[in-house]
Amino acid sequence: MIIVNDLKNINKIIKKLISNSTLNTLNINNHEECAYCGTENIISNSIWICTNCKCINSSLSKKLIMSDPALLKTISEIYELRKSEMYDDAIAKYDAIKNYTDVRFAYAEARLCRYASDKILEQVDYNRKDFMEENAELKSKASAYESKAKHLFYKVIYAVQNAQNPTQEMLFMRAMAELELKRFKDVKATLTLFDSSAPNPMADYTKVLFDIEIKDYENALDNASKIISSNIFKENAFYYAAIILIKLNKINEAKKILKALSKFNLKILQ
Ligand SMILES: [Zn+2]
Repeated sequence: MIIVNDLKNINKIIKKLISNSTLNTLNINNHEECAYCGTENIISNSIWICTNCKCINSSLSKKLIMSDPALLKTISEIYELRKSEMYDDAIAKYDAIKNYTDVRFAYAEARLCRYASDKILEQVDYNRKDFMEENAELKSKASAYESKAKHLFYKVIYAVQNAQNPTQEMLFMRAMAELELKRFKDVKATLTLFDSSAPNPMADYTKVLFDIEIKDYENALDNASKIISSNIFKENAFYYAAIILIKLNKINEAKKILKALSKFNLKILQ
């Protein structure tokens, strides 16, 4: 059962969210490939979050990758390998990235491991003949990917914890890793470290994901609409707004947002 405290307020937010004037602010012309996984994203700002690996991209990440042709090639190969479901080869390529000081490479690799684990688990089939042996093999492979993912998420957290002056972007990646590991108390603690002297979309975005996890959909939707009007991470916020609307059983409203997002024909991993 979902409790909504202020029905009038939430209905007002939803009405504004799905109005044509809000949905029309999505810009179909701007897209860019993620520096950490190669997936193409719709962007409306120089700072944006990849819909696939969840890494924050900025003009600095772009500069880093553009100044290193070998790294650019590796990321594009990883994209192709993942698309062809050759997970071990893609993971080996991430492992071989020499300049691993940017924690986002570890984060993107962790996301890939988790994705591989899910994909392998989908193949478990109890109707197959001799299923016991094959399924056991699949399950053990999936759990190996999952433990590598966990290890890499912890690596991100510790690297940011040990950094002398972590940037807002690094703090954001730490909060995302804590969310992936469902360490909600730690996410709360990390949120207090964000700069709150001015509106901070990275903190607002973290709050949206945190509130979805703890099922506070009212607050999550409120923060998502705040992000949408701030113009940073807008596309991501639209996506999460649709997820929240589904959770609130507002299916038609969610469909309206998803339809607006589906207009984009991009190089997106399925
Ligand atoms: Zn990415």
